[in-house]
Amino acid sequence: MIKQRPFQSLPYPSMLGGTRLLRPDVAQIRLPIVNAYLLGQPGGKWVLVDTGTPLDAAMIRRAAQKIHGKRPPSAIILTHGHVDHAGSVKKLLEQWPVPVYAHANELPFLTAQRKYQMGRRTSAAPDLRPHIQALPADGTVPHAAGWHTIPSPGHTPGHVSLWRESDRTLIVGDAFSTANARSPLTLLTGEPAQVGHAFVYMSRSDGRETVRRLADLAPELASVGHGKALSGQGLPEAIQEHFRHFDDPAPTSPSPLALPLLTLAAVAVGLVWWRRNRFITHTDCR
Ligand SMILES: [Zn+2]
Repeated sequence: MIKQRPFQSLPYPSMLGGTRLLRPDVAQIRLPIVNAYLLGQPGGKWVLVDTGTPLDAAMIRRAAQKIHGKRPPSAIILTHGHVDHAGSVKKLLEQWPVPVYAHANELPFLTAQRKYQMGRRTSAAPDLRPHIQALPADGTVPHAAGWHTIPSPGHTPGHVSLWRESDRTLIVGDAFSTANARSPLTLLTGEPAQVGHAFVYMSRSDGRETVRRLADLAPELASVGHGKALSGQGLPEAIQEHFRHFDDPAPTSPSPLALPLLTLAAVAVGLVWWRRNRFITHTDCR
C-alpha cells in the first residue's frame, strides 16, 4: 500500500518566478532562489516580508504592483538579514521610503556591528542604518493586524517567523527549509518538498528548540524562505518528526557543488525570466 504523505506541497506558480496567493491576503513571491511575501488584502495596507537577493528588486516591485497597484507597502519586515532575504532592501527603499523592521537581536548584523558566521566563512548583511528599527517587543507586527512574530533563533540569532493564529498560517523564514540544501535540483524544483534543515545554523541547539516551538504552534500552512509551502493536518507532525531527527547523522551542510550549481541555475532562470519579461499571477492554490 502506498503510504500517503500527511501534508501536501503547494506548487510554485512557475519555475521562472511569479506570485501565488496562499491565502486571500498572503501572497508568495517566487524568486529564483528564495521566496518573499506580501501580507495584506488588495486595496488595503500591506507589508513586504523579506526582499530576496540584490538582483530581485524589480521582480518584487512587479509582483507587488500586480496585487497592490502603485501603493507602497507600509513597512518592510525582515525575517533575518542574510543577503538572500535582505539583499534588495536598499533598492526598494529608493522607491518605497518606508520603515524596515527586524528583531532586536538581528540589528547588530544590519547595522554593520557584527557579521554572520556561515560555516567557516563570515558574511556581512547590508548596513540598513538609518532605516532599520527593532520589531515591537510585544510581538505585534507593524501594519499587519492579526500577525505576531515568533522568535526563531538558530539560523541567525535574531531570526523571526510570522504567525497568524486565526488561520494557523506560519511564514517560517529560514528556521527550516522544505528544499534539500544538498540537492541543487531540489533547490530549483522544490521537489520532493519536506520539512528539513536550514542551510546553516549559527546556533544548532537554538535551531533545534526553534523547530519544536514552531511544531507546537500546530500550523495548517507553513511557507518557507527556500522551498515550497506545505499545508495539511499532518504538517505539525512532520515538523515534530524533523525535531525528533534533528541530530541524526545525515549530512546537513550543503554539498560543495550545491551553491555553484544553484547560482548558475539561478542566473539562467533569471536571464530567461528577464527575456520573457512576464510575470504570472495565480489566484488560487487549492
Ligand atoms: Zn538565511
